[in-house]
Amino acid sequence: MPKFKLEYIWLDGYTPVPNLRGKTQIKEFDSFPTLEQLPNWGFDGSSTQQAEGRSSDCVLKPVAIYPDSTRTNGAIVMCEVMMPDGVTPHPSNARATILDDPGAWFGFEQEYFLYENGRPLGFPKDGYPAPQGPYYCGAGYSAVGDVARQIVEEHLDLCLDAGINHEGINAEVAKGQWEFQIFGKGSKKCADEVWVARYILMRLCESYGLDVEFHCKPIKGDWNGSGMHCNFSTTFMRETGGKEYFEALMAAFEKNVNEHIAVYGPDNHLRLTGLHETQAIDKFSYGIADRGASIRVPHSFANNGYKGYLEDRRPNSQGDPYQIASRVLKTIAEVPIP
Ligand code: ADP
Ligand code: MN
Ligand code: MN
Ligand code: MN
Repeated sequence: MPKFKLEYIWLDGYTPVPNLRGKTQIKEFDSFPTLEQLPNWGFDGSSTQQAEGRSSDCVLKPVAIYPDSTRTNGAIVMCEVMMPDGVTPHPSNARATILDDPGAWFGFEQEYFLYENGRPLGFPKDGYPAPQGPYYCGAGYSAVGDVARQIVEEHLDLCLDAGINHEGINAEVAKGQWEFQIFGKGSKKCADEVWVARYILMRLCESYGLDVEFHCKPIKGDWNGSGMHCNFSTTFMRETGGKEYFEALMAAFEKNVNEHIAVYGPDNHLRLTGLHETQAIDKFSYGIADRGASIRVPHSFANNGYKGYLEDRRPNSQGDPYQIASRVLKTIAEVPIP
C-alpha cells in the first residue's frame, strides 16, 4: 500500500489575521484517500495562540482534501480547529460560523504582492520604478520583470493540479502586484480554496527567497493597494431577485457597515480612501458598474431584472475569506425572502 504524505493545514489563533500552519502525517491507503478516510489529528495550541500551555491540545478536523503535485503521493488537507472534545469548534474557527447553503456561490479576486527584501519584486533597491500605467495586464521585462511570471504560472499549475477552481490570473496595477480569481459553489468551497491557494503560493515562494505580501496597502503614495473583491449570489438572487429585494438587501448591508468592515481585513482605512477605485471606509454606496462604490452592481444584474451576483469591493487582500463569507451570508439572512 502506498504511503501518502498528508499535509494537514489550519488557521492559527493570531488576530486580526490568522496565519496558515501545517504539518505532515504519513498514512497508508490503497489509493488517494477520500475525506471520510482521514482521521482527526492534534497539535500544540500553546504555540499558535489557541491554548494555554497547561492544557494545550487542539483537534484538527479535516474538511477538504486536495492533491499536492509537489510531492509523491502528496495531499493538502484543509482542517478546522476543534476543542479537545473534537466536536466543539474552537473560538478561532471562523469556518464553523458560515451558514450552510449549497445555493450560495462566491468568487474571490485575491490580489497580492511578491516581495523581495521587504520591497515589491522589481522595485529598484533605492527609490521607485516608473509610475503605474504599464504594469496592469502588462507584458515584457520592464512591465513584469524576469521571474514573477514564472512563479505565477507555477502557482496556477499547482492550484489546477490540486483541483482548485481558478477562473483566471492577471498582472495588477502596481509593479510586483498580481491577482488570481477563484469561484466556488456552496458557502464554504471558495473560501477553502482561497486559503489553500494562499498556502501553495507561500510555500512555492520559499524556494525563490520571496515572500507573499498580503497587506492591503504595503507601499505608500500613488501605488494601488490590494483587495479581495467578494462576488456573491444565492439561489434567490440568481433565480428571482427583483429591484425591491435588491434594495432591501442593500439597506441591510448599509445597516451592517461596521460589522462588515470589522472582518474585511486590517488597515482597510489605508486602502478604502475613495481613490484608486475604492469607496471611503466610512461610506456605503452601490452603483451599476461603479468601481468607486462599496458594492458594484454588474450591468448583467441590472439588465436582467436585478438578478445574478453582486460584487462587494471592500474586503482586502489580507481578509479571512471564512469571516467574509460568514458575514455576507449573515446579512443576507436578515432580509426576508418575499
Ligand atoms: P472584475 O475584476 O471586473 O471585478 P473578475 O472577472 O476578476 O471581475 O471577477 C468576477 C468574479 O465574479 C469571478 O471571480 C466570478 O467567479 C464571480 N462570479 C461570476 N458569477 C457569479 C455568481 N453567479 N455568483 C458569485 N460569483 C460570481
Ligand atoms: Mn478582477
Ligand atoms: Mn484586481
Ligand atoms: Mn473585482
